[in-house]
Amino acid sequence: MAAFGDLSSRLTETFRNLRTKGKLSAADVDGTVREIRRALLDADVALEVVKDFASKVRERALGDEVNKALNPAQQVVQIVNEELVSILGGEQRRLQFAKTPPTVIMLAGLQGSGKTTFAGKLAKMLEKDGHTPLLVAADLQRPNAVNQLQVVAERAGAAIFAPEPGNGVGDPVKVSKAGVEYARQKLHDIVIIDTAGRLGVDAELMTQASDIRRATDPDEVLFVIDAMTGQDAVNTARAFQEGVGFTGVVLSKLDGDTRGGAALSVASVTGRPIIFASTGEGLDDVEAFHPDRMASRILD
Ligand code: GDP
Repeated sequence: MAAFGDLSSRLTETFRNLRTKGKLSAADVDGTVREIRRALLDADVALEVVKDFASKVRERALGDEVNKALNPAQQVVQIVNEELVSILGGEQRRLQFAKTPPTVIMLAGLQGSGKTTFAGKLAKMLEKDGHTPLLVAADLQRPNAVNQLQVVAERAGAAIFAPEPGNGVGDPVKVSKAGVEYARQKLHDIVIIDTAGRLGVDAELMTQASDIRRATDPDEVLFVIDAMTGQDAVNTARAFQEGVGFTGVVLSKLDGDTRGGAALSVASVTGRPIIFASTGEGLDDVEAFHPDRMASRILD
């Protein structure tokens, strides 16, 4: 996978230099932290995340756990690993289900971020686990969006609730509410609501998504973000957090040539965990996100 390639090799190089040393001086630690800092910034990780990360690593690397370690360099690598896991969200966070079905999962994010594709992936994943998800087409902004979800639903073998074609644009809030009601009647235990995105953040989009959230009271609001968007990811995530609010993050297009900045910033900046990683256009290209595995991959 091309993702993180550059960051990963820069960090490996930094650690290789570090390993040639026995005892570590304060200057060694400072030099190492400076290199890590630069590598993270070049990978488009948000400045505030880099600063915080660097100061934690530095403080711990200058402390007793390294001083007294048999292999100080190895101990620093371990600290970097632990702090990386921490900015990626720490423990793995699983999807939360409602006590009384249906569980409502709302997807939000910019147009092209991968929401519709992820809706299909999620439906397929849940079906494999014995659930009976219903996809709800609440993206009524683009004429083709409902069609697109229909295609995805068919590929996933999932049921779909969509406004009848030819009935005008329709009201996404009403469609979402009706979708949840339909799921209740037809005994679908999970509802996945695909909402409209724009090319950029705008007030109308936020209000609409926020109205859908209020009307359907979802158990999860998943913010889907294209991992390729680099520094912009953080601003977009903040805007969605303020405008709509979300409970978890889906990182999409991790199979692309991303430098990793979005992946490494978004959980830390928003305080919301990354729950899934999307890694391709196929409906099986998705996995549960494990902060520790991601950290190991970067530091491999
Ligand atoms: P939406 O506008 O947010 O619903 O985004 P779509 O689901 O329509 O996805 C936009 C484009 O990105 C489509 O061409 C998808 O095939 C593609 N796409 C979605 N997820 C991924 C992914 O994880 N990896 C790759 N490489 N492409 C993806």
